[in-house]
Amino acid sequence: MCMCMTGKIYPLPDGRGTVVGAPLISLIISLIIRHAIIPDVNILDELRNEVASCTLCSELADFRTQTVFGDGTIEAEVMFIGEAPGADEDAQGIPFVGRAGRFMNECMAQVGIPRSKVFIANTLKCRPPDNRNPQPEEMDNCSTFLTAQIAIINPKIIAPLGNFGLQRMISNKYKIGEVHGRPIRRRDGLIYFPMYHPAAALHRANLRETIQIDFKKLAKLLKREGLL
Ligand code: SF4
Repeated sequence: MCMCMTGKIYPLPDGRGTVVGAPLISLIISLIIRHAIIPDVNILDELRNEVASCTLCSELADFRTQTVFGDGTIEAEVMFIGEAPGADEDAQGIPFVGRAGRFMNECMAQVGIPRSKVFIANTLKCRPPDNRNPQPEEMDNCSTFLTAQIAIINPKIIAPLGNFGLQRMISNKYKIGEVHGRPIRRRDGLIYFPMYHPAAALHRANLRETIQIDFKKLAKLLKREGLL
């Protein structure tokens, strides 16, 4: 068991988090080589182009207005990982721009976490029809891109938002209600900080304060790690 009720950081026994397969390794290596040859080319933009032309999940590719790659800088210290784009995100091509995104911006501003420190992405880069849940095979398909984003950005902290992010990044043994707001340090030093998805506060008003408290804890963790 790796969790702690007091917010202390414990190692995750299996160090599980991401799966790096051969196609992903070749994609990342080719991006890094191209970046080395032509340094002006933003490696994240290269990956964004790969995502934009992806049709691996045919239903999602047919339904989407556009892919939603992620938002933030390559130097981000914290990566938030949500579920999938919704209608607003699909329309604008940017994650977390609807009501949930505005609440998240408010929470970050309240605790002094600047947008320049974070990168926001989702487990899926395409909107599921009628905002249905992501299917396991869709998340498997898209994990190549998510893993590449993480490898390129190399954040110090990954904050999965909600159960889909949590189960994709850490383990499906856990529920967000049991582990939110508690840091988990992997053996390689990467820290997971699971949080409720900000959209949860739109449906359950009592979670609003819980999410705000967890953002305070995240800011404290960033300060303790010398990142803020
Ligand atoms: S969800 Fe990901 S893997 Fe599936 S089509 Fe969209 S970009 Fe490709």
